[in-house]
Amino acid sequence: GVQAVVFGSWGDGACGQCHEGNEQLCAHGVWAGFGRHGGYQEYLPVNYRYLIKIPGGGELSPDNLAPLTDAGLTPYRGLKKLRNAGHLGPGRTVAVSGIGGLGSYATQYAKLLGGGAEVVAFARSDEKLKIAKDNGADHVVNVRDKDTEDVRAELESATGRTELDAVIECAGSEDSIRLAFSLLAAEGAVASVGLIGNRVDIPLFPLVAREYTFYGSFWGNYNDLTEVLALARTGQLKHSVTRVRFDDVNETLEAIARGDVLGRAVIVYD
Ligand SMILES: [Zn+2]
Repeated sequence: GVQAVVFGSWGDGACGQCHEGNEQLCAHGVWAGFGRHGGYQEYLPVNYRYLIKIPGGGELSPDNLAPLTDAGLTPYRGLKKLRNAGHLGPGRTVAVSGIGGLGSYATQYAKLLGGGAEVVAFARSDEKLKIAKDNGADHVVNVRDKDTEDVRAELESATGRTELDAVIECAGSEDSIRLAFSLLAAEGAVASVGLIGNRVDIPLFPLVAREYTFYGSFWGNYNDLTEVLALARTGQLKHSVTRVRFDDVNETLEAIARGDVLGRAVIVYD
């Protein structure tokens, strides 16, 4: 059979962002599964323009493909921003903060797009750090109950450096964003893709005097997704997926809230 994935952010096609290809930034867009035709549907009408065909003969299963349209797409765009601005490369250190659904992919993109940068994973559970290690992180640091200087000391023993050149911030909590900024080297950058917190208090002086950069990065565009799928198709991505029966959705949402689900939860209809 033919497999296809759905690019899920459908813009109005008329604004400047849509014409640039960034339909996920359209002010009048809709998101597949959010509102329109409801969520958690087994079938969904989709304009052909938003389908990306997956060539047959590969080993990609639907439950590995599905998270690529969201958890697998969002950190990819964030890493591209860091790479395109020159924050990665040999001799640089990039941290992936938060190893959940997004971070398990972010770790892999940090290696794939990092151009030789050392990759350090930050998380609050050893189980999640093991996923980061399996996905290519050079070093891992459990940041639970540690202050900035504790983390800095572990960073130094791991990398020989006390600072980071770039952080892909997947946790989205105030603590993790503050930690990212407090470990930045001069000209360092933080790209935020996590969306949990509301406000962050960041001291302005180092931000200006040390020339830090902050990137918001939202989801991804159609072309970003085709690039992610190309990596998956050529076997360059590992998948951390927990399969969930439709009847178990509510229990799974509670488990996600507790931080008890490894990788991305995918509903499998049978
Ligand atoms: Zn638009």
